[in-house]
Amino acid sequence: MNSGPLHSTDPPAVHYLVGGGIASLATAILLIRDAGVPGRHIRIFEQSDTLGGSLDGAGTPDTGYLVRGGRMFEPYFACTFDLLGSIPSMDTEGLNLKDEIDRFNREVSNSSHCRLVRSGRKVEPLRFGLTARDLRDMGRLLTQSEAALAQRSIEDCFAPSFFNTDFWFMWSTTFAFQSWHGAIELRRYFRRFVHLLPGFRRLEGILRTRYNQYDALILPILCWLQDHGVRFGTGVQVTDARMTRDADGLRVTALHLLREGVEEEVEISGHDRVFLTLGSMTEHSTLGSNDTPPPEPAPGGGAWELWQRLAARDPVFGRPGTFGNDIERTKWESFSVTLRNPAFFEYMEAFTGNAAGTGGLVTFTDSQWLLSIVLFRQPHFRDQPEDAFVFWGYGLHPQRRGNFTGKAMSQCSGNEILRELAGHLHLGETSEVLLGGAQVIPCMMPYITSQFMPRGPGDRPAVIPEGARNFAVIGQFCELPDDVVFTVEYSVRSARTAVHALTGQGNPPPPVRRTDHDPAVLMRAARTLLRGG
Ligand SMILES: Cc1cc2nc3c(=O)[nH]c(=O)nc-3n(C[C@H](O)[C@H](O)[C@H](O)COP(=O)(O)OP(=O)(O)OC[C@H]3O[C@@H](n4cnc5c(N)ncnc54)[C@H](O)[C@@H]3O)c2cc1C
Repeated sequence: MNSGPLHSTDPPAVHYLVGGGIASLATAILLIRDAGVPGRHIRIFEQSDTLGGSLDGAGTPDTGYLVRGGRMFEPYFACTFDLLGSIPSMDTEGLNLKDEIDRFNREVSNSSHCRLVRSGRKVEPLRFGLTARDLRDMGRLLTQSEAALAQRSIEDCFAPSFFNTDFWFMWSTTFAFQSWHGAIELRRYFRRFVHLLPGFRRLEGILRTRYNQYDALILPILCWLQDHGVRFGTGVQVTDARMTRDADGLRVTALHLLREGVEEEVEISGHDRVFLTLGSMTEHSTLGSNDTPPPEPAPGGGAWELWQRLAARDPVFGRPGTFGNDIERTKWESFSVTLRNPAFFEYMEAFTGNAAGTGGLVTFTDSQWLLSIVLFRQPHFRDQPEDAFVFWGYGLHPQRRGNFTGKAMSQCSGNEILRELAGHLHLGETSEVLLGGAQVIPCMMPYITSQFMPRGPGDRPAVIPEGARNFAVIGQFCELPDDVVFTVEYSVRSARTAVHALTGQGNPPPPVRRTDHDPAVLMRAARTLLRGG
């Protein structure tokens, strides 16, 4: 949908982008690259003081580094790689960000030798442990339509024993699924990533960035956008969007802003366009320290409030409550650890058989919190000194009592989280030598899996909601056929869809690569399942 031709007498159209995450940053790049919009006519409003949204990376070796998460990519992130191919590397003349990812993954490829740990030992041989009934239930899930699965959870579709299989330990921790999440999402994931199944036990086929995603992706993107004159407003919350509906359709006519406690109104006129990121998986994240747990997270936050306000007025904006009303079921907790000596890394490299950065997630199946850790390739931060070592972990069930601390993870300080980890590794007295002096930053994310909650038709707004003339919805909570949420690709694909639809310029996104339609892929997947892993 093109919002109308531009005439030479028209004032230049301004493009307002709500949110400073990758969905908005990708929109800005595509407006410049594909639609010929001058960067100075693009304004990005971000409520926090940092751009990049969930793609974060912060801290120092002394205070400890922080990443809320680490991103796994895979080769069919077509929109993401197309986008990254347009942004020059900050490190190597002549390379772009896609080249950098290709180069890094040629140097450091993933093949885990220790995906699961049970009773302090690696699980070997590692098998899926699926029964004939589990396979039949999987088959049934795959053949049902999304309409038939509306509002149903994964536990509605599988026997309770499925959730104790090593397949589920691996699947749920790789992608952060809970048994109560939506069956529609699991079905999409099974179909979207079926080509990964033969290497799944070893996490093969996963691609990573050289540094954390703020340093590897967001920094060079921000440099490029700044060079093109894009204007960033951090510390600016968009509290509302005024709309009018007439025979012509639905238009945003003003944005209401809150900047340092002061309300402002921005008029949207002529051929201006608005791109709205609605909802956020990292909204209201809270941080703890070595000695304190993260504060109990509060519900709400700017990203959810704007969506709720719009949806309360017009059903084309879907139902944010489906995703954001139950933080007890959408939260989990991660932790970032900075060490000043290599002892723990050396221990884990010997224990797993993987050099840091080549193994990926290690999950402790006995852990009540369902703890997993990842040792990144070092350095993981651009300014990380040689004597600093950074790893990350998370617990999918932070409300349960830990096996060794006896406390809910959400109530544990960073030191207590390390005590729990040391217990699962059976470190005993060596734990002080290996982990002593660590800086730990726990991070509670109340909305981290909100995108996965059971949903039905109309819960997610379309990228171009019905009747929309001058605006689009981008990010994790709009509807895109076939693709899967909790990915960077989904946000970038939404941006590409929105820019093409609103401006009529550039190309629409390529279709999602349907490897589940490829007989050879299906044969390999079926063989893997029947072999048991
Ligand atoms: C722990 C973790 C692990 C992950 N693992 C992977 C992975 O392995 N692979 C993968 O591909 N992806 C992964 N992801 C997902 C990926 O990071 C996200 O899908 C993606 O970054 C979302 O980008 P976004 O721009 O759509 O939304 P967000 O990152 O949520 O950004 C939205 C931004 O908009 C701002 N905002 C929203 N509303 C307003 C408003 N009204 N006013 C002002 N500002 C507003 C918010 O403050 C936020 O900064 C992971 C994410 C996390 C947190």
